[in-house]
Amino acid sequence: MGRFNINLNNTNTYDAIVIGSGMSGGWAAKELCEKGLKTLVLDKGRMVNHIEDYTTMLKDTWDVEYRGMVSNEDLQKQQVQARSGYISAFSKDFFANDLENPYQEIQRFDWFRGYQVGGRSLTWGRHSYRWANKDFEANNRDSIAIDWPIRYHDIEPWYSYVERFIGVAGEKRGFAHLPDGDFLKPIEMNCLEKQFAKEVEQKYKNRYVIMGRVANLTEAKPWHQALGRGPCQNRNRCGRGCPYGAYFSSNSSTLPAANNTGNFTIRPNSIVHSIILDESTNKAKGVRIIDAETMKVIEFYAKIIFVCASTIATTQLLLNSVSRNHPNGLGNESGELGHNLMDHHHNVGAVGIFEGLDDMYYKGRKPSGLFIPKYVNLDEQTKQKDFIRSFNYQGESNRESWTRGKNEVGVGAKFKDDLMKPGKWSLSIMGYGEVLPYHENKMTLHSELKDKWGIPQVVFDAGFKNNEWEMRKKMKADAIDMLEKSGFKNIASFDNPTGLGNSIHEMGTARMGKDAKTSVLNKYNQLHHVTNVFVTDGSCMTSANSVNPSLTYMALTARAADFAVSELKKRNL
Ligand SMILES: Cc1cc2nc3c(=O)[nH]c(=O)nc-3n(C[C@H](O)[C@H](O)[C@H](O)COP(=O)(O)OP(=O)(O)OC[C@H]3O[C@@H](n4cnc5c(N)ncnc54)[C@H](O)[C@@H]3O)c2cc1C
Ligand code: SF4
Repeated sequence: MGRFNINLNNTNTYDAIVIGSGMSGGWAAKELCEKGLKTLVLDKGRMVNHIEDYTTMLKDTWDVEYRGMVSNEDLQKQQVQARSGYISAFSKDFFANDLENPYQEIQRFDWFRGYQVGGRSLTWGRHSYRWANKDFEANNRDSIAIDWPIRYHDIEPWYSYVERFIGVAGEKRGFAHLPDGDFLKPIEMNCLEKQFAKEVEQKYKNRYVIMGRVANLTEAKPWHQALGRGPCQNRNRCGRGCPYGAYFSSNSSTLPAANNTGNFTIRPNSIVHSIILDESTNKAKGVRIIDAETMKVIEFYAKIIFVCASTIATTQLLLNSVSRNHPNGLGNESGELGHNLMDHHHNVGAVGIFEGLDDMYYKGRKPSGLFIPKYVNLDEQTKQKDFIRSFNYQGESNRESWTRGKNEVGVGAKFKDDLMKPGKWSLSIMGYGEVLPYHENKMTLHSELKDKWGIPQVVFDAGFKNNEWEMRKKMKADAIDMLEKSGFKNIASFDNPTGLGNSIHEMGTARMGKDAKTSVLNKYNQLHHVTNVFVTDGSCMTSANSVNPSLTYMALTARAADFAVSELKKRNL
């Protein structure tokens, strides 16, 4: 796999600029380049070339210091990122340095970031689910916030388009509330997962347990192979970068596809400070960057701009793009920019031990777990009196390994024999619930505090409310009930609320809507008031649903790129 093109042209002028090269920026780059636009991608972080820069992908615990744990010195730099539980010697370099990227919390907000080429597409959990039509209708039905300007049929072909390219392993089940996709063969459940699925489906009328639908190649189709991607080896080390390109990331998939067109240029270490407006036409004419290493300020120009810096970073830069025409931030005529910040709420569920299946085991470490689609507030029969919207669970089942969770010390044949025997089976499920789009949940820019590059710091003031707290009670009670009814013992429940952001599904702050008076973007992710700027990351979301959101960002990005290029051809932009 060749390296990405980093050679800039002489004029700093391109057809399109894409800000950010993560999940959504990668898709914008691929689509715009494939449609013939000379495209410059600007990313704040360092270059990460596919495979050659995955420095820990083949390392084992004994190959690194401190058995893979992070030193206190390193931890000082990533105290916020460590709230995620994902920081280890193998992953830490794909998470941001909190000292260099500070922010302010009026209420706790867990902002987990990946500042590098590829963004968090390198570290994501790969769970990929479609939204159903009812999810797009939800705000309208409940008369809260504003209505989505699109419905399922608008995005359905783009879901298929994205799924086919990225490769999603999944099983078709025909659920109306969790539409099937264009799937590769599913990852297989282990024996306890199969048994749990059978028990739950027998004991409850409308609850189903399926294998998580994940962007891992259970089979590599010709279009995957053409990009050098091969089938997954079940190592479950995806967050380090995959030597087989077997999970979807920008670095393994969209950026190489863009690079292959000859239309692609990427400039890492380029922190976009603001979008430059041509005040006479009220169109964006380019962007102003700060070189992260030299601190030099440089301008780049283009006909269209895709802002894909991730939910909060995108709105930070739009709020920082002030001009006479847009004194409150670019495209912020509605005053909604920064508001309606959402995430999912999680860390509530239960774990149980299963006695039996002692003669069964499994092979490999599959990179996915269980998924229980939502089952409450789907209709009148499942309507809840204490909360609106719904939740789903993710889970997994394992057999305790030879360590049994303790560091046993001993000698002799019996001790060694005992170590060879696997322990008991356990299964855990954790809920992910919808967070409503509250206007008062917001991010703003601090009037004085700046980061080391002179960019105003983000201030978060957002939290969960009664609807989320009530929903959590049911999430916990149902988790216990499902394990009990399926024959588990020693069931331990947990409910550890976090700050907003901890699910790493931050959404909103530049929502889509039909009316420019109450929303920032139109139905094609185009700024209502600056029509050659498109925002296609999670900032655009009008509500949050309860499923992992990145598939929807990717589908919306591909759809918006298609629209932008056709408008450009019609000379409408
Ligand atoms: C551990 C983990 C597990 C996850 N699991 C899942 C999952 O199972 N399913 C799911 O759907 N989602 C999951 N997510 C969330 C998913 O990673 C994000 O939703 C997705 O990456 C967002 O895509 P994005 O393009 O908006 O942002 P990112 O992928 O974060 O990319 C943003 C890019 O913009 C760059 N950038 C930021 N600011 C600037 C600037 N000012 N100028 C230039 N560039 C800038 C960054 O360097 C970065 O490369 C997970 C995330 C993590 C970390
Ligand atoms: S589990 Fe599969 S996708 Fe993940 S790193 Fe291993 S081979 Fe790659």
